[in-house]
Amino acid sequence: MSVLRIALPTPLRKLFDYLPPADCDIQQLQPGVRVFVNFGRRKMLGVLVTVVNESEFPRDKLKSVIKIIDSEPVFSDTLFVLLQWAANYYQHSFGETFFTALPSMLREDRPAKLNQYKTHWCLTELGRKISITELSRAPKQRRVLLLLREQNTSLTTEQCLVLDITSSILQALIKKQLIVKEEIEDTIEHAVAELVIKPSPVVLNVEQQEALDSIKQSIDDFKVWLLYGVTGSGKTEVYLQVIAEVLRAGKQALVLIPEIALTPQTVARFSERFMTKIVVFHSKLSQTEKFKGWLAAREGTAKIIIGTRSAVFTPMQNPGIIIIDEAHDTSFKQQNGLRYSARNLAVLRAQREKMPIILGSATPTLESLYNADNKQYQMLRLRKRAGKAIPPTFTVVDMRQQKLSGGLAAELLTLVGEHLQREGQVLLFLNQRGFAPVLMCHGCGWFASCRRCDAKMVFHKRLHELRCHHCDRREAVVPRCPDCQAEQIMPVGMGTERLQQTIMAHFPNYKVARIDRDSTQRKGEMEALLDGARDGKFQILIGTQMLAKGHHFPGVTLVGIVNADGGLLSADFRATERFAQLVLQVAGRAGRVERVGEVAIQTHQPQHPLLQLLLNKGYLAFTNALLEERKLAAMPPYSHLALLRAEAPNSQAPLAFLQQISLQARSLIKNTDSHVHVLGPAPAPIERVAGKYRAQLLLQSPQRKSLQILLSQLISLISNDKLSKQVRWSIDVDPIDMV
Ligand code: ADP
Ligand code: ZN
Ligand code: ZN
Repeated sequence: MSVLRIALPTPLRKLFDYLPPADCDIQQLQPGVRVFVNFGRRKMLGVLVTVVNESEFPRDKLKSVIKIIDSEPVFSDTLFVLLQWAANYYQHSFGETFFTALPSMLREDRPAKLNQYKTHWCLTELGRKISITELSRAPKQRRVLLLLREQNTSLTTEQCLVLDITSSILQALIKKQLIVKEEIEDTIEHAVAELVIKPSPVVLNVEQQEALDSIKQSIDDFKVWLLYGVTGSGKTEVYLQVIAEVLRAGKQALVLIPEIALTPQTVARFSERFMTKIVVFHSKLSQTEKFKGWLAAREGTAKIIIGTRSAVFTPMQNPGIIIIDEAHDTSFKQQNGLRYSARNLAVLRAQREKMPIILGSATPTLESLYNADNKQYQMLRLRKRAGKAIPPTFTVVDMRQQKLSGGLAAELLTLVGEHLQREGQVLLFLNQRGFAPVLMCHGCGWFASCRRCDAKMVFHKRLHELRCHHCDRREAVVPRCPDCQAEQIMPVGMGTERLQQTIMAHFPNYKVARIDRDSTQRKGEMEALLDGARDGKFQILIGTQMLAKGHHFPGVTLVGIVNADGGLLSADFRATERFAQLVLQVAGRAGRVERVGEVAIQTHQPQHPLLQLLLNKGYLAFTNALLEERKLAAMPPYSHLALLRAEAPNSQAPLAFLQQISLQARSLIKNTDSHVHVLGPAPAPIERVAGKYRAQLLLQSPQRKSLQILLSQLISLISNDKLSKQVRWSIDVDPIDMV
């Protein structure tokens, strides 16, 4: 008797036994194929994990698989093993883990291939012949025409996305009869573009060359390279030249970046250097387009694959290298479902597929630096900015006892004025959107709080409403205090909207762009603001951390960090590390060209020892001090954490449930002589969000192994626990946020 053990996308952390369908040739059946089964009253897609000879259930209790969908596995051997490892490590259901790794088109009953027509934009006779000067007044159209002539082919929708070519540009060219739209049959196999690598426009400096040489020397081996170079030190240039080497060897490169929508320039740089098939997993792509990209990567026709976190699961025919840009970024950790770290999975994947991986960052995490210290990673440093760019200088603006105008000290305002006068752009960073984080009654001290969360409502002046930033609840602003009826309601504290108002009042002759989640809601708004910022249409840029990532603003000479106190005083043990990363990332936006940049940090804690260390001795001295603190406190990377979270509308249930689990955990630990510590349970830092009460239990262990063993023992206990039915619970292994 053959029994198929199948992973199904249900939360249950187990495999399900089925009989093979009648017409099935067991010999031909390979693990990793998708199957269609009856599950309860539903039909469901699953993945075959193994074929075994017996089941714990009697044969007549087993259902037959309805249909085997694939003849070949949808996962490569290495990915399949990696995913099983991930399911075990992150304590997640096998089925859900497999489905997390598949494009959504394959989560349905359809074959893992595609034959379709695809839109191409092709040059017309006129487009080929016309003098390029005719388009001198339309630089964007001109660029497209030049690209088409250079490639001597056509552009597809995906390429246009990658190259930042909008449909209005294409329409304009069609109207002028320079290009036409054609539907061409798209069989992935035929889509192999000839590889053209354009020469680099720059000569590498000594450190870049050394980094490149080291990586090239073991280009066929697994090695983790920590490319630690300040912003603008030419890391991307190193990536490009390493990729050139990989492509020449006929292999593929996988590039992970924090957020594609925020880094169109980086992506465009790749596609301008390499004339080859590049797939970018972009949120603007349709499901079909994503699926095509996945297929092209799997079949090896896509040579470069660029994507965010989930692209770590993209199959590759000839894996050559993985590059993670801004590898410190928290977006590489998924915060729901399969709570994986794409950075850690990528390292494991590189190891299994025997290729190098580069973790590039101007501010590596403490974990990465610790791994470099232990020789798990090889550190490569780029100490200087590439080309002529000069590093910025830092100024601490002491806010204590200063007269503030709208939260800004006179010293900072003076600096802003000076830079504007010298025709520099100014970027002000404040991680609080809205007008003011608190709306308070001057008469009695009442303040507006969210009815569903333990949080204050944020005042949004332009919309004239209050918003909860935790549950998105909206409320009208009240004209008088609901408690004492006084008409003395006033905003307290500062958000980006208020900062914008203050700045506009001080510098009425300059244009201000505010870039935060509120100002970039509508399609195209973000791009327009960023374009305006780069073109110099705006002289003052105000933004939240959205602005800290990956943008190049060549004209910015002053970066002001309006409120550094939060980062220095937070209770989260990772807050100071994040703060330093943020300061350096934001600082990286300044003075990327020949002009010297200046970074001003406003704080009530000018003497804070860690701030002083960071500014006077640099990031490594700072991280070394933090590592010392972590060591004393036995926190990561000197220990490993797992966080159990529970939430429920009932205020008692989450704590009661976790209390129960903690007792079980403690007795397991006692019985097995395990070294795991149980901390808590305790209410979450913000206990109530969107009407649900939340609690958490922290497990801490010097070894991964004992933590893993305890977690898997706990999981089976939890699933059988009566209280577990009253809460929603989850496990977060290697959590990066403790809220
Ligand atoms: P990073 O990725 O570290 O932020 P980039 O690779 O984007 O740095 O380089 C920053 C700028 O410096 C880019 O405009 C790039 O073209 C330029 N650049 C890089 N390497 C060199 C070099 N060796 N000589 C001159 N300019 C360089
Ligand atoms: Zn009042
Ligand atoms: Zn709320």
